[in-house]
Amino acid sequence: MAESSTKTDYVVGVDLGGTKILSGVFTNSLECITTTKLSTKAQRGLDAVVERISRCVQDATDEADLSLKQVAAVGIGAPGAVEFETGTVIFAPNLDGWKDVPLKKELEKALGVPVFVENDGNVAVLGVHVTELKGKPRNVIGIFVGTGIGGGLIINGELYSGFCHTAGEIGHMVLEVDGPKCGCGNKGCFEALASRTAIFQQIKAGIKDGQKTLLTEMLGDDLADLRSGDLRKAMRRGDKFVDRVIEDAAEYIGIATANFINIFNPEVVVLGGGVIAALQDEMMGVIVETANDYAMPGTMKGVEIIASKLGDDAGITGAAVLARKQAKKA
Ligand SMILES: [Zn+2]
Repeated sequence: MAESSTKTDYVVGVDLGGTKILSGVFTNSLECITTTKLSTKAQRGLDAVVERISRCVQDATDEADLSLKQVAAVGIGAPGAVEFETGTVIFAPNLDGWKDVPLKKELEKALGVPVFVENDGNVAVLGVHVTELKGKPRNVIGIFVGTGIGGGLIINGELYSGFCHTAGEIGHMVLEVDGPKCGCGNKGCFEALASRTAIFQQIKAGIKDGQKTLLTEMLGDDLADLRSGDLRKAMRRGDKFVDRVIEDAAEYIGIATANFINIFNPEVVVLGGGVIAALQDEMMGVIVETANDYAMPGTMKGVEIIASKLGDDAGITGAAVLARKQAKKA
């Protein structure tokens, strides 16, 4: 029973995204007992977002019949470059351009619980590595395709964070010189070519150019409320236009995968995020085939390219893993 539990029995994992905040309460054995979701509303400014994260965490604990006193730590995956030691978000283009935001400090003030902030891709690969892969493979690359594209690197069994803790920003690897503009200010980034945002933009631009697609039949000409699942439905009904856009995105993901395999020679490349969760059957074949085409001969030997089973929960799971790890150290 919750009442008789000790303080360190629970942690909360938060996935702070550009569009939504997801919180999950986890037991010591990393079992998720409840989740809550709120929209981020980044355009309302920093104070509003901090208040919404805090509310989302409190709703999740309340939903689990717990008080914040029973939470040992809160882990947060944030979309951007993060300085882990201070819990500062250095730059987050998908959070209305946040710069040098002391998120750990603000949330500890609001919640009264230790808070640990890490890049969302790093957190997600940590979650997959510890729970789904049982910590076994020594070298894992995570590629998470959602609103943006995040990633993380497990090297020699540990999360690799680089010199200034900004490693793993794989969404900003340039795959097309002079390609479409990216939120980071650069052009032709992986994220600007294959994220959900990029896919939706290509579809909307195609419709403007007169492309025929079942999506307008399903959702109206302005494609209000377009979701990744709608793309799957259209493809299964034989929509050639959507098929081509998704195939192009899958090819870019495959090329990125080949680059990582060439550089890191991992045992596992794991793909996740909302786009992969919704379109796994449609995309994985093309991704694996393209990775095979572009990787250096011999480098693919024994390398597994898999879709994560955690789906949208990779972020909260990884954030919970981070919180538990840090709470143990304290
Ligand atoms: Zn970029």
